[in-house]
Amino acid sequence: MTQHLDICIRGGGIVGHTLALLLARDRLRVGLVATKPPAGSEPDVRVYALNAKSKALLESVRCWPDAQHATEVTGMQVEGDDGGAIHFSASHLAVPALTWIVDVPALEAQLREAVRFQPHIELLEAPRAATLTVVCEGRASSTREEFGVDFVATRYPQTAIAARLACEKPHGQVARQWFKGDEILAFLPLDGAQGQSVGLVWSVPDARVPELLEADATDFCEQLHTFSQGCLGQLSLISPRKAWALQSAQASRWIGVANGQSWALAGDAAHNIHPLAGQGLNLGLGDVAELAEVLHTRAYWRPVNDIKLLRRYERARRAEVTTTDAAMTFLQQLFAKDGNGWQKLRNWGMQGFELSGMAKNWAARQAMGL
Ligand SMILES: Cc1cc2nc3c(=O)[nH]c(=O)nc-3n(C[C@H](O)[C@H](O)[C@H](O)COP(=O)(O)OP(=O)(O)OC[C@H]3O[C@@H](n4cnc5c(N)ncnc54)[C@H](O)[C@@H]3O)c2cc1C
Repeated sequence: MTQHLDICIRGGGIVGHTLALLLARDRLRVGLVATKPPAGSEPDVRVYALNAKSKALLESVRCWPDAQHATEVTGMQVEGDDGGAIHFSASHLAVPALTWIVDVPALEAQLREAVRFQPHIELLEAPRAATLTVVCEGRASSTREEFGVDFVATRYPQTAIAARLACEKPHGQVARQWFKGDEILAFLPLDGAQGQSVGLVWSVPDARVPELLEADATDFCEQLHTFSQGCLGQLSLISPRKAWALQSAQASRWIGVANGQSWALAGDAAHNIHPLAGQGLNLGLGDVAELAEVLHTRAYWRPVNDIKLLRRYERARRAEVTTTDAAMTFLQQLFAKDGNGWQKLRNWGMQGFELSGMAKNWAARQAMGL
């Protein structure tokens, strides 16, 4: 006879795996529906900027990658399109690192391995009845639809192209970002402190995507070299180029009951934001940290689908997600606006922010999850 599950997690991305490990620590009986990637599928080319809070969470389940696959970022340089610039430095903020750039396949492999050795987690091929179902299926979640939850999405007129690049010069543990009109380019340092490769995230107008994906590799890198003013010397592609259409989205409800089954959403199944500040997964990990905490601290007589607990989870997470999403949309729109007046205003704003001292430190600490 199959054992009854306390929690069935649908979706084996980083959010789903992390939640399974957090709940298993409390000896809850957890099922994880994690479909295997199709044979021959390529590893994710992306790298993620993860903040101190996410690092601590992943360390707590012993899944933080080694220094070669989680590069410490000690400096950040953000440039506008008319002289505006903002610099952050870990030493000024008295922290060991501003963020860490994590190799996605390395983190995924570590989480999969940890789950395999956790006796309280059962890997499932299909969903099973459970006291609570947590949906972590990402932005295109079919279970969210099955449960009748609206997912209100607004497309940005941009698509992100991600890839990995080898550079002539070492990255020096600095993350670099340029806002130029309707394009945003980021170079994220990889391969440890001495690394000479970066993760690329280039958000461009949708119409530019076919041309950039099909461009000859030399041509593509030449465009990046010009955009980045040659700061890392010659660049070459070391991975395929992949594209993600960008949207801001949030589920109308994060918790509920459908056909007698209690459910909650977490991660990209609940919200999507623009990747310009690298906060999407940080928010998703914040969701599962909160949900695990709410369940861990519940009174012994409350079941894991107690509506009061689930409401507490929803309330706690919605506020942070809504604020972060609004900030990303504001920045994306501010830089996409045409016209000399807007250009002057945003670069003046960047300079003001650069000189603002306390406000700048506060914003940096927020982004770091401190
Ligand atoms: C270009 C780009 C760069 C980004 N950079 C950053 C960054 O620097 N920092 C950051 O914090 N965030 C970043 N993000 C956001 C980050 O990618 C997402 O927030 C994160 O992947 C969400 O994780 P998830 O586990 O919720 O969803 P997903 O990663 O989408 O995982 C969902 C999983 O569920 C599975 N699944 C789907 N449907 C089903 C089903 N019906 N049954 C079973 N399984 C199912 C999928 O196969 C997948 O394995 C970036 C996003 C983009 C597009």
